[in-house]
Amino acid sequence: MSPNRAVSGVGRAAAQLSGVQLKVQAARLGQAVPSLAAAYEQALARWLGDPVLRLAGRPIITECYRSPERQDELYKQGRSKPGPVVTYKRGGESKHNTLPAPALDVAFLLPDGEVSWSGLLLSKFARLMKAADARVHWGGDWPGFKDRPHFEV
Ligand SMILES: [Zn+2]
Repeated sequence: MSPNRAVSGVGRAAAQLSGVQLKVQAARLGQAVPSLAAAYEQALARWLGDPVLRLAGRPIITECYRSPERQDELYKQGRSKPGPVVTYKRGGESKHNTLPAPALDVAFLLPDGEVSWSGLLLSKFARLMKAADARVHWGGDWPGFKDRPHFEV
């Protein structure tokens, strides 16, 4: 997808979450520490209030709290298991591993039903997250390994 198509959304309807999906989103948001949850809610409201961004995709929390066991499984990816390296943290080392969690991961539901981790959309969402609360750090700003879906306080 070209960057222009990612933000234009011409001729498309905005992606809508089902009732079940909305409940899942609320449950994941409920796992976040209050300051991060508030920043996400504000950034989401700004995003959905922008007619261009709204058509580009619907922000979704893909993960907030992550058990240390699941963290260990993710750590194996790209090492003892196939796939790209997605984390440098072992179980218990990630900010995702405490509850409430000071970290959450974001993706976008596109109008065609696909889930996107577009760096362009994530950078736009990161701007809204940081504007909502200056304590929010975006993984895309990290030196070295960029974790663009990742936000933390
Ligand atoms: Zn993360």
